[in-house]
Amino acid sequence: MAEKIVRNTEKKAAEPAKKAVEPEKKPAAAKKPQTVITPNKPTGGSTVGLRIGAVVLWLLAIVCEVFAIMALLEYFYPPFNMTLFLIIAIVLDMGFAIFAAQLWKKANHIKPMSEKRGKFLFYLWNELGVIMACICFIPLIVLLLKNDKLDKKTKTIAAIVAIVALLITGVASADFNPITAEQKEEAEQQITGDVYWTQFGHKYHIYEDCSSTKNSSTLYKGSVTEAIESGRTAICQFCANRAEKEGMDLSHMNVEGRDAAEALQIPVVHTTEAPTATGGN
Ligand SMILES: [Zn+2]
Repeated sequence: MAEKIVRNTEKKAAEPAKKAVEPEKKPAAAKKPQTVITPNKPTGGSTVGLRIGAVVLWLLAIVCEVFAIMALLEYFYPPFNMTLFLIIAIVLDMGFAIFAAQLWKKANHIKPMSEKRGKFLFYLWNELGVIMACICFIPLIVLLLKNDKLDKKTKTIAAIVAIVALLITGVASADFNPITAEQKEEAEQQITGDVYWTQFGHKYHIYEDCSSTKNSSTLYKGSVTEAIESGRTAICQFCANRAEKEGMDLSHMNVEGRDAAEALQIPVVHTTEAPTATGGN
């Protein structure tokens, strides 16, 4: 079970870790305590529910888009103002698509895809949210821009809202640090102790005193599995450099700033060893 660490960013003394279930009351003073939070336990189980949820939400997003398109093509007339109708449809479309992608990403962090499937499928699977964002908005945007029946004001407003929605959904749906099944397994085997992560950070830290967490008053502490499942899939690069200096092999792990699928390369064959074996016996 992961914990929340409250630490004093002014003083150096680390408070003993509290297994607080409830967030502790902050002292009224100007002190900045640091907290250890206990997030949810790793589910480790099936991700089918999450994936079904994601697909259903993406379908709902597409339904919203279809309604907007049908109104544009005059299959029906919106019960109220056309501009408002289009905006509502686009916003709902965006909400469903973003929510769907979060479930999808969560499932990918709980049960990542094996690198054996290849780089192309790996990215297709992990960035499905971005692909779905395009499907959820681009047809509508094209039709909006091509439409000449709509009055200019409605057309401009709806097109801008739809393009902004596409960009927001795309960014919110992308997995900027996907992890392979092998990398997760490797991390779980090599890092048996606790790791740390901050509230808004996208990576986890091996060392509690990592300089990049210095300014965070709240630190989460837990197993590497918990870190990955809460979306922190990569090791912080400072911690990685330090761990490598201490002799840890991170070459098959997901490290911040390194390509997650780099490990997909075929392992290097040690050709230098082969010739010596060919003896004349
Ligand atoms: Zn670090």
